[in-house]
Amino acid sequence: MSLDTTVATNELVIVPESAIADLIDAEASFEAVEQVFAAMSRRDAYNFPVIREAIGHADALYGFKSGFDRAGLALGLKSGGYWPGNDAKGLTNHQSTVFLFDADTGRPKAIVGGNLLTALRTAAASSVSIKHLARDDAKVLGMVGAGHQSAFQMRAAVRQRNFEKVVGWNFHPEMLSRLADTAAELGLPFEAVDLPELGTQADVIITITSSFDAILQADHITPGTHIACMGTDTKGKQEVAADLLATATVFTDEIAQSITIGEAQHAIAQGRIAEDAIIEIGAVINGTHSGRMSSDEITLFDGTGVGLQDLAVAEKAVTLALERGIAQKVPF
Ligand code: NAD
Repeated sequence: MSLDTTVATNELVIVPESAIADLIDAEASFEAVEQVFAAMSRRDAYNFPVIREAIGHADALYGFKSGFDRAGLALGLKSGGYWPGNDAKGLTNHQSTVFLFDADTGRPKAIVGGNLLTALRTAAASSVSIKHLARDDAKVLGMVGAGHQSAFQMRAAVRQRNFEKVVGWNFHPEMLSRLADTAAELGLPFEAVDLPELGTQADVIITITSSFDAILQADHITPGTHIACMGTDTKGKQEVAADLLATATVFTDEIAQSITIGEAQHAIAQGRIAEDAIIEIGAVINGTHSGRMSSDEITLFDGTGVGLQDLAVAEKAVTLALERGIAQKVPF
């Protein structure tokens, strides 16, 4: 029996959160995110200004990230935020839903659960940076952070190089078991280390914390390391010292976000780096920038998280849901 993958003009597709895990994996997310970073750098895709507000109810932060990809024809927004009281209600504190629209007519096209997609697209971003910027001979992966995102980050990272070991540090040591368990799932040995040791051993480091102070200092890092800073997505957050950005070659998903809400905000504010020294990762993907120039260079990816990443993975989820006949179509 052939499946009907068409959607009528009066139909809306729903892909619920519960369907995402069986639809889209690290590989599909990687492809979607790599393509959209490339489109952003070609100026085929752009993000609209981000809205994020404390709504004065339930201690919640609410907002939306949106954009349009002319190449992939993804148009829409991710709506959601952070409700700190949700845990007590048996719900995830972070809540996200993606709304997609038909780029030709503006009609609503799909509603897609965005919680798992957020973790997958964030992990895909650092994974794209590792593919294009880490040394080919990278063997040790360093993880700073052991929260919800860290497991997704590790799983996506190990797809890019032949890592033989994972070393990790976390501000709350009791959470390190998540890193140990994830490394075990991936068949890799895990060692909990202090920060100087992490910097000495690791060839690639991912930072994924909600820290507001620099954790990694410039003297922790050895030449040739690639660092993906993924936790800083808000004004005031910080994971690495501004000095480190001054000694590294800095790449990002989007420069406007990097200098305002990303890891580069501090180095820019302190005059340690110039905005025009920051390179879009899409330029490396497209081959208009060479990326890493030597095995001694320290490369740093400031992954701030853009709406187009959400739209790209949500589009993929809709396509796969239609192909597998599990998309819910409702008249709308
Ligand atoms: P989580 O709450 O599950 O874990 C938080 C992590 O930060 C833990 O490792 C915790 O030990 C650490 N931490 C908390 N306070 C700290 C402090 N004062 N100093 C150092 N470390 C501290 O969060 P998560 O879902 O894993 O998200 C981690 C971060 O990633 C958050 O800041 C989140 O906003 C960010 N994030 C970024 C993107 C992106 O696209 N860049 C996407 C999703 C999440």
